[in-house]
Amino acid sequence: MWKKTYGQTGKQISVIGFGGMRFANPEDIDGSAELVTYAHSKGINYFDTAPGYCGDKSELIMGAAIRQMPRDSFYISTKCGSADGKELRGSIERSLKRLNVDYIDFFHIWCLVLPNQLEQRIAGGAIPAAVKAKEEGLIKHLVVSMHLSGSEIARVLDSGYFEGMTIGYNAINFPFRSEGLEAAARHNIGVVTMNPLGGGLIPRNAERLSFIKGPRDDDVVQAAIRFNISQPAITSALVGFSNREQVDQAVAAVENFSPYPQEHIENVKSHISESFEGFCTGCGYCIPCPSDVQIPKLMDAYNQKVLDGNDSAIVNRLKWHWSMKPEDAAACTQCGICEEKCTQHLPIRDRLEAIAALAAG
Ligand code: SF4
Ligand code: SF4
Repeated sequence: MWKKTYGQTGKQISVIGFGGMRFANPEDIDGSAELVTYAHSKGINYFDTAPGYCGDKSELIMGAAIRQMPRDSFYISTKCGSADGKELRGSIERSLKRLNVDYIDFFHIWCLVLPNQLEQRIAGGAIPAAVKAKEEGLIKHLVVSMHLSGSEIARVLDSGYFEGMTIGYNAINFPFRSEGLEAAARHNIGVVTMNPLGGGLIPRNAERLSFIKGPRDDDVVQAAIRFNISQPAITSALVGFSNREQVDQAVAAVENFSPYPQEHIENVKSHISESFEGFCTGCGYCIPCPSDVQIPKLMDAYNQKVLDGNDSAIVNRLKWHWSMKPEDAAACTQCGICEEKCTQHLPIRDRLEAIAALAAG
């Protein structure tokens, strides 16, 4: 298995990481743990979990697998989303027990979805408590997971607290995050990406997205995984596995694979806007908005409708990815400034109206 160095930590991480959020039958702890050890036998050495995943069973499954794997042969990642220092400390101690380890390799300040949450996690004591746990050796590396725009990610990384980050990144949404990747490269910070298949959107739109494929790619799923790991700034792509076939497919995607040249990446980027009429590329030229409307995030949610063709895709994207509501689009005063600057000439005002109208639904 191809490995990359995780930022400044010196740790060699497999380019495919095991996302522990999609176990098929999490109630079966030992059976699920077998899938983890199977992936480990195939060369995967980065395992990501969190309290609450899979009905709160994921950490227990990882812990059962860890009993069977030499401690120096893998890295375990878990998380805490509380801003409160005492709660975070309790969460670390609970995770250590459930995972059957003396230390957590990569501990995440979990799920920053609003720009001011970094300050909240500092003021509430969570980040100081994590720093203390690191000093005590309970955590090896303090990292962060985020659903923020590229510039917001850059600001979090500039804070200097973190040795790595986990972000959603794939062949569809990458323009929204590229500024964050540039910041990670600047700071030499490790980057793990989640959701390389766009929550299933990429396989569901395989034909329309066929331009993602390079000459040696068998299918769009393989291409989407390779797209992520070809980026020099990305250390590893997390894939949520449910069965051995999925592990085999992901492992096959990276075996004997040479990274795509930058030219291919640029080609995909230009095709995204060409191939999808009315697709927001996340370039951010439309902001700032005088009414502080989060235009790129709302247009990203609308992209889901462009791809999936239904309104519920917009609402779900806002809720689960950006922690926003359709109502947030209603702050638009229809001044039109953003449309003059939009590189894709999108009817932003009409789309915002359409999104706001979903509030009642
Ligand atoms: S049209 Fe709406 S979203 Fe665009 S700049 Fe004006 S207030 Fe902001
Ligand atoms: S300028 Fe247009 S394409 Fe770029 S982020 Fe704004 S809405 Fe999207």
